[in-house]
Amino acid sequence: MLIGGDWVSCEQNALESVNPADGSINYRVSAAGSEHVDAAVAAARSAVAGKAWRQMLPHVRAQVLSRISDGLKANADELARLQMIENGKVWSECKAQVASAAATYRYYAAVCETLGAEVTPSRGDYLSMSTYEPYGVVAAITPWNSPLTMEAQKVAPALAAGNAIVLKPSEVTPGAALAVGRIALEAGLPPGVLNVLPGTGADTGSALISHPDVRMVSFTGGTATGRSIAAVAAQRLIPVALELGGKSPHIIFDDANLAAAVDGVVDGIFEGSGQSCVAGSRLFVQRSVLEPVLDALVARANGLRVDLPDAAGAQMGPVAGFRHRARIESLVDAARREGGQILAGGARPEGERYAAGAFYRPTVIAGLSNAATAVREEIFGPVLCVLPFDDEDDLIAQANDTAFGLAAGVWTANYQRAWRVARALEAGVVWINTYKQLSIATPFGGFKESGIGREKGVSGVRLYQQSKGIYWSMNPANMPA
Ligand code: NDP
Repeated sequence: MLIGGDWVSCEQNALESVNPADGSINYRVSAAGSEHVDAAVAAARSAVAGKAWRQMLPHVRAQVLSRISDGLKANADELARLQMIENGKVWSECKAQVASAAATYRYYAAVCETLGAEVTPSRGDYLSMSTYEPYGVVAAITPWNSPLTMEAQKVAPALAAGNAIVLKPSEVTPGAALAVGRIALEAGLPPGVLNVLPGTGADTGSALISHPDVRMVSFTGGTATGRSIAAVAAQRLIPVALELGGKSPHIIFDDANLAAAVDGVVDGIFEGSGQSCVAGSRLFVQRSVLEPVLDALVARANGLRVDLPDAAGAQMGPVAGFRHRARIESLVDAARREGGQILAGGARPEGERYAAGAFYRPTVIAGLSNAATAVREEIFGPVLCVLPFDDEDDLIAQANDTAFGLAAGVWTANYQRAWRVARALEAGVVWINTYKQLSIATPFGGFKESGIGREKGVSGVRLYQQSKGIYWSMNPANMPA
């Protein structure tokens, strides 16, 4: 664990990091108990009050963030490998995620150096201003699917905003967070400003969010966990930012470029073995082109190279763990029971190479209604459910008939329809004739049960700040009566 700039271990309470590609043990990592949570929050609290961090001018803080970005790039292979052996993502994706995390720190260095406050219109002989201050100690809790990028998305803006952070990574992926903690110290971040506590959600996570000195919680993970964290935050009256699950509709109209659309759908659901919050897991296809689209999708799904994550040319690795694969399998079984036709996949790949890993084949299911379990629940695996639609009204009604509202994609050659449909979809991000394009400069977050608050963008820093109004009299004689 990283607490107050020191590396602390706890032999009695350790987690095993398991490689999902072959079931081997990567290493054992100390898990933080309540005494470590207390120590980390105390270290963060004293760092945020200390001069080294509080008085560091924004342009100097920006230099620290820039050096963290450089450190991530310089250690790209180590970071990518840590993520790969912990969550099984293929090497090329892990490398791309290190580059994305580094770009996030660089972006927030620029925001930190340039973001100002406001002089507001006064109603008298005084100067009125809105300034922005950090909350103090922020708890960041993250999932296992993309730890490098998810953690950068929280830590970089929260630091830019002047907070100190206690980060609890997923118990499945503690390695990358610990390495980033080391890189941040090497980059000159004062001790205690970033603390990293591996551990389980039930123990470490819940102790952390309940700690009286934690003044804000930033969470990415499942909707059920988000709901329970929000309940604690409500009791404590502290702000909470929630990036939660999704069941995103991906839509193909009959006038779309079908080859491009199929490419987008395949990337949108099978990249990262479907373990992406924005995975386009419900595909709606206009009935007149259903058959050619299904044929193309089945061919593509069967042709994807599922392999060990570090094998050259691997397009899909295992899913992140054996328990997680069992859950995916149970949802595909539910689809079978509810009348779904498994057109591709629906099973583990066969062969010696896959025997010890948590592999699952890219799966395409047709014939389910929008009410089926596999269509309603987030599977978080390489499973695509395909449904037909007849017209735009039918499409919008089906696409929005979900508890989630994270993302959506629409493929059409008709620009007026693209605009209408994008406006009508209940989702925090809509892609038109593309999918999964993401920019750190564009705010991101969910509608409905997919979350509260927006990360990323310039305004992403404000998520971690509270505004303060300051009124400064220019004429003491004019005091209000
Ligand atoms: P979980 O909700 O199970 O866990 C997320 C994190 O919360 C983990 O660190 C977990 O710890 C911790 N946690 C669990 N229970 C508590 C608790 N009571 N108090 C405090 N912390 C707790 O999600 P997964 O890790 O399984 O990740 C997958 C989910 O994340 C999917 O639903 C996915 O859609 C969502 N996600 C959303 C994104 C978005 O931006 N909207 C992006 C990426 C993923 P532990 O280590 O024990 O699991």
